Amino acid sequence: MTIMPDSLDPSRKTTGRACAQCGQPALVAFRPFCSARCRDIDLGKWLGGAYVVRGRSAVDPDDTGGVDPDEER
Ligand SMILES: [Zn+2]
Repeated sequence: MTIMPDSLDPSRKTTGRACAQCGQPALVAFRPFCSARCRDIDLGKWLGGAYVVRGRSAVDPDDTGGVDPDEER
């Protein structure tokens, strides 16, 4: 197991701003948030708390069976 310093892991790279959700340092990978969780929380607010799934925005892991989720049918 290798432990990478935050500064060497691209997925942990900070934007230099605070997370729009919780105020922790936001990561480039999830900007303007610090994590997928904060992003989802904010998205939930925009949707008025209703979890609307339509199309490809939220892929059910059991749904595609390994098919490229970006592939249109
Ligand atoms: Zn956050």
